[in-house]
Amino acid sequence: MNGKELKRLKQSVKSVSKQSSIKVSKSLEPEFIGRVLDRLYSNAPECDTCKGQLGDFVQCISELQGRADDLSKQDYVALQKVMDGSVHHLQKIHKLVVAGQYVAVSVSVGLSLGVAVGVTFLDNVSLGVALGLVFGIAIGTALDAKAKKDNRLI
Ligand SMILES: [Zn+2]
Repeated sequence: MNGKELKRLKQSVKSVSKQSSIKVSKSLEPEFIGRVLDRLYSNAPECDTCKGQLGDFVQCISELQGRADDLSKQDYVALQKVMDGSVHHLQKIHKLVVAGQYVAVSVSVGLSLGVAVGVTFLDNVSLGVALGLVFGIAIGTALDAKAKKDNRLI
């Protein structure tokens, strides 16, 4: 695949999503798919998995395009699968992150720590939960910002 083909593929994603009246999940927004495609494309020369995922996208999108007048939610399942696989691979192997990923993780860690601290040291669970939430959001937001700065955000 070359840059021209990548551009065409992203264009197809946009036109499919425009033609369809079905509300698809947030993870299938054309802008997000476009960013995932960019990452796969830039890694493809050194990574066979990225190359393979790109191939899956081409097949999946052209299938969706071929029947754009008659799409059901079921038709998006295949695309969702390819997206999930690609995002998972980019996160695990190429150490990329999805926006909000760190916030979600650190809030859940902050909350459980907050409960423990609240019960053990403060004798006040809701104060512990509040502190855990505040610290969780602060740390997660900082990590997200750092990932963006390091160009690791998909
Ligand atoms: Zn890869």
